[in-house]
Amino acid sequence: MAYKLCKKVRELEPYEPIQGNYKIRLDANESFFNFPDDLKAEINDIIREIDFNRYPDPMALELTKAFADYYSISPENITVTNGSDEMLYLLSSALMKSGSNVVVVDPDFSMYSFYSFLSENNIFTYKKNKDHDINVDELLSFMFENNADMVIFSNPCNPTGRGISSDDARKLVNGAGDCLVVIDEAYMDFWNQSLLKEANEYQNLIVLKTASKAVGAAGIRLGFAIANPLITKALRSVKSPYNVNTLSQKIGACIYRKKDLLKERANEIIKNTKTLYIDILKVVDNYKLPFRVFITCANFVFVETDYAKNIYEMLLENGIAVRYFPKYSSLRITTGTVKENNEFVINFEKYIIKNILKRNR
Ligand SMILES: *Cc1c(COP(=O)(O)O)cnc(C)c1O
Repeated sequence: MAYKLCKKVRELEPYEPIQGNYKIRLDANESFFNFPDDLKAEINDIIREIDFNRYPDPMALELTKAFADYYSISPENITVTNGSDEMLYLLSSALMKSGSNVVVVDPDFSMYSFYSFLSENNIFTYKKNKDHDINVDELLSFMFENNADMVIFSNPCNPTGRGISSDDARKLVNGAGDCLVVIDEAYMDFWNQSLLKEANEYQNLIVLKTASKAVGAAGIRLGFAIANPLITKALRSVKSPYNVNTLSQKIGACIYRKKDLLKERANEIIKNTKTLYIDILKVVDNYKLPFRVFITCANFVFVETDYAKNIYEMLLENGIAVRYFPKYSSLRITTGTVKENNEFVINFEKYIIKNILKRNR
């Protein structure tokens, strides 16, 4: 007899983002800003002072305070993790049990059902309507029909960029009964319908945040869960004690103190996304193409088209990476700098002139 991997992991493949050297990266919803040089210098000084021989602070106190201060919430509601991905895994594996009923929505961030699959939860998928909007009454019925223990979704949604209003989100939390509601607000810095500030008031709500998007610190892996003190105590108890390394904690604390810089940059990203959306729409309207371009509440634009795969491949050949979703025959284009966005739009239009218009003539 020899050890055999159990069935659920045997056929999995490691997560592989787009590899290769593309001059323009619009595929991962990252911020197009790196940190400015003076901030990098400040970070260098911080690193020089670190006691590398010591374990990190398990409660990430300094970082928790800086994060709390940035969003005007209380430190006692916050749990810090190694990216929100770590928290997603903890939610399905530690807060849920094997056999717990987890409701996800579709389209949405695929990691929710992935971790639930690994944790042997029962997964129930609520299909959004064709405009990719969530009808909260329908979702509530779906949750009750399936006896949901947890519902989890992103607001605004990755990959569609669509969102539900804070009133709808409240209605969902208030109507969910004893079901845990997890709202992943990874992109809420680009919109204004957050429940973050009121998370403390609910018995059944967890709001997730990350430093990977608007804050522009995907490289140091910081995620945050915000909930009432009872839930927070549980989350702090189930995470591994030294989950966030000292460098990330110290650098994160430093970054969240740069309030003006962060807000300024979020606004710049919002501005570029709007222009990108308008420019894509112009091309689509100009040639009267049956493409669907979705109004976005995030830092990317979602485009549905039968040509998604071909456009994606052509862009790669020209050094531009965007995200392609075979399942939805769609592209998700993260906003870059003005220059990068222009280059994308030029190539997008070129493809249409060369391949779509010619063929239809
Ligand atoms: C990018 C993203 C995250 C961030 O995950 P990290 O592990 O913090 O980098 C979380 N949720 C959604 C919906 C995302 O798109």
